[in-house]
Amino acid sequence: MKNKIKVNIEIQKNSNIKYEYDRKKGKIVVDRILRDNFKYPANYGYIEEALDWDGDELDVLVYSEEVFQSGVELNARIIGAMKMIDDGETDTKLIAVHADDYRLEKINSLEDIPEKWLADVKNFFTTYKNWKRPGITSVSGFEGIEWALNEYEECVNLMNEYGNMNKDEFIKKMKIEHPEKYTK
Ligand SMILES: [Mg+2]
Repeated sequence: MKNKIKVNIEIQKNSNIKYEYDRKKGKIVVDRILRDNFKYPANYGYIEEALDWDGDELDVLVYSEEVFQSGVELNARIIGAMKMIDDGETDTKLIAVHADDYRLEKINSLEDIPEKWLADVKNFFTTYKNWKRPGITSVSGFEGIEWALNEYEECVNLMNEYGNMNKDEFIKKMKIEHPEKYTK
């Protein structure tokens, strides 16, 4: 199965600014400043050709020592995924490793990256919206490459089928047809 993807970086590692790609405008906009000194633990972006159940492009955490600028595209290898629910909607984060860094060539699965990195990422996404309501986001765990590739494929199909649909309509329709992807 194909595990090479192109990731569009929205947010740099260590940033406290939440940048977000706006599909309608076709550009990256500043959504907000994170509260409580939270900073993104990893470079964060999306996959253009894949639509997640929350109505946005499928999110990706890119494992790398480097800090990539918002708006750039890079090649990455999918190595796993983090399963997450945000305000009742499935909001999976694929985990990928930068594919054009010679130092990362041997990394091909979640077992190859430091446990601390995964713990930091899990902790961030479990708590960064606590100011809104504790528990609004939850992380149910990590999955390996096979699960992640299936998820990628499923989201590519969603984009092909529903990419032109308005976000609210899409979520409304999916809640009826795929209730297992939503908790409320
Ligand atoms: Mg998302």
